[in-house]
Amino acid sequence: MNHDPNCIFCMIVRGDAPSLKVYEDEDCLGFMDIMPQSEGHVLVIPKRHAAQIFDVSADEAAKLIRVTHELAGAVRNAMQPDGVMLAQLNGADAGQTVFHLHFHIVPRYAGQKLALHASKMGDTETLKTHCEKIRAALHDTA
Ligand code: 5GP
Ligand code: ZN
Repeated sequence: MNHDPNCIFCMIVRGDAPSLKVYEDEDCLGFMDIMPQSEGHVLVIPKRHAAQIFDVSADEAAKLIRVTHELAGAVRNAMQPDGVMLAQLNGADAGQTVFHLHFHIVPRYAGQKLALHASKMGDTETLKTHCEKIRAALHDTA
């Protein structure tokens, strides 16, 4: 597996940094965003290090989107939001702050503005509760 020793998401993949995992298979990992923009914000990454969508093959991108599609459904079932936003940023000028490819799954709730991107740590207990809910929803639909 291709890992970047200085990359926080590679550390999470290796288990060298903590994360609240909602999903794992041989290629991809889904986990709670530590600075959520809304309740239930999940990130989906390939395990192999790649900085941007342009650095993976079409097949790898397709796999990542399959997993994102499944997890977005689980987030929707678990959190019952009014909408779900998917986002994927490439390059600092596009707003990317962690240079390991990821999709954001961001539930949107009517009348609630998004929290600022990557700015405020979420409450750990709340993140754990949401993680458990999403995991349970994933098992229900699996
Ligand atoms: P980007 O700006 O690159 O699209 O998004 C990076 C995301 O990663 C942000 O939403 C930020 O909150 C999240 N993030 C940054 N560091 C960590 C971390 O160590 N753990 C987790 N779970 N999320 C992180
Ligand atoms: Zn990485």
